[in-house]
Amino acid sequence: MNIQYTLVIIKPDGLKKSLTGNILTRLSEAKLCIVGAKVVHVSRELAEAHYAHLKQKPFFGEVVKYIRGEPYGTQYQRVLALVYEGEDAITKVRRLAGETNPEQAEATSIRGQYGRLTSSGLFENVLHCSSNPEDAEREIKLWFSPDEIVSETYPTKDVEMKIKRKGWL
Ligand code: ADP
Repeated sequence: MNIQYTLVIIKPDGLKKSLTGNILTRLSEAKLCIVGAKVVHVSRELAEAHYAHLKQKPFFGEVVKYIRGEPYGTQYQRVLALVYEGEDAITKVRRLAGETNPEQAEATSIRGQYGRLTSSGLFENVLHCSSNPEDAEREIKLWFSPDEIVSETYPTKDVEMKIKRKGWL
């Protein structure tokens, strides 16, 4: 058994187009297990760290704005981040998602069905999914803390933190 973890992000265009249900239904074909899920307002730091491998690309600035939802209005400046677990999870999710470029993606794949090229040439492809086990580990650790995941993904350690957070009144 090759158990893998993969990060899936339903990007702001996916939320704006009300595609969350459709995308989750398509992904359920892979018969994987969701072990983490949360809605995230993406900070510039998180977006830039997530796309660090694209820093030299001419579309870097645009892709950072895209994942932060800047073109879609304040209501859609968020994403749904999920961690899937299961046998060959990375390959299975990538197959269902389709090619990065929606115009090259198989027509019945998620990106083929719902993605588009914007007038500026950005691939608006409704979801992110990890490419390989190394990227998956880096991305999952970037987006989630260990206690937000209900499975033994990667080794953890106890850390003492003195942090100020919001509590209910
Ligand atoms: P993927 O998301 O399939 O892993 P990349 O990490 O290479 O692909 O790219 C991240 C995102 O940047 C893509 O999902 C897409 O939104 C955008 N993108 C990638 N390559 C291009 C490109 N050549 N032109 C426009 N947008 C791109």
